[in-house]
Amino acid sequence: MPRTKQSRGECKFCGREMTKGGLTRHFPKCTKYQKTIEEANKKAGKKHKIYHLLISDTWQKDFWLHLEMTGSAELEDLDNYLRAIWLECCGHLSQFSIGGWRGDEIPMDTPVNRVFDKGIELIHIYDFGTSSETLTKVIGERQGKPLTKQPIFLMARNQLPEVACMECDQNASWLCMECVSEHDKPGLLCDRHVKKHPHDDYGEPVPLYNSPRVGMCGYDGPAEPPY
Ligand SMILES: [Zn+2]
Ligand SMILES: [Zn+2]
Ligand SMILES: [Zn+2]
Ligand SMILES: [Zn+2]
Repeated sequence: MPRTKQSRGECKFCGREMTKGGLTRHFPKCTKYQKTIEEANKKAGKKHKIYHLLISDTWQKDFWLHLEMTGSAELEDLDNYLRAIWLECCGHLSQFSIGGWRGDEIPMDTPVNRVFDKGIELIHIYDFGTSSETLTKVIGERQGKPLTKQPIFLMARNQLPEVACMECDQNASWLCMECVSEHDKPGLLCDRHVKKHPHDDYGEPVPLYNSPRVGMCGYDGPAEPPY
């Protein structure tokens, strides 16, 4: 999809809105985030290695997540999270690997502290037919208490990238798969133009969810985080 500006997202702690790169630089300096960590560290419980992950769709870089993940959690927890927030359509197979597409597969029950290290990159494939490919980069780590009882904490995600309707300049919120697959057109439609759109060979146009899997296989949202 043609896009002009980089997508932005909000820091969960202070509410400032930035690009994914801006947030990478922001988090270590965000006083509210640092305060939240201090508060968590005062609580009872075990210390863990906690990783800061920057996750993005390999091809559509405007879809990204900043996450904290507890070291004792397993790759399966990250797989479940990615399925819920972005990927799940019909229960396809998925895998993590290291060292590129043809790299070594890492079993889902591996605790992440056995594979993660600053600078490590993992590839996640969901669906070996109509594949979604996601890149996980470990961009930081800290020793301390997690911010949540869940294995993952969502620090920021992109807002739905703005794309224009192919009939006018209004924001599109629908996608016609027949346009994309049969007519080599972007298929993006605003609320007004979706009403009179003539195509239905691929079903009605689908809503643009905040997920890189929109328009692939049977994906129909909702692109919400599981927790
Ligand atoms: Zn902040
Ligand atoms: Zn599917
Ligand atoms: Zn329009
Ligand atoms: Zn169409």
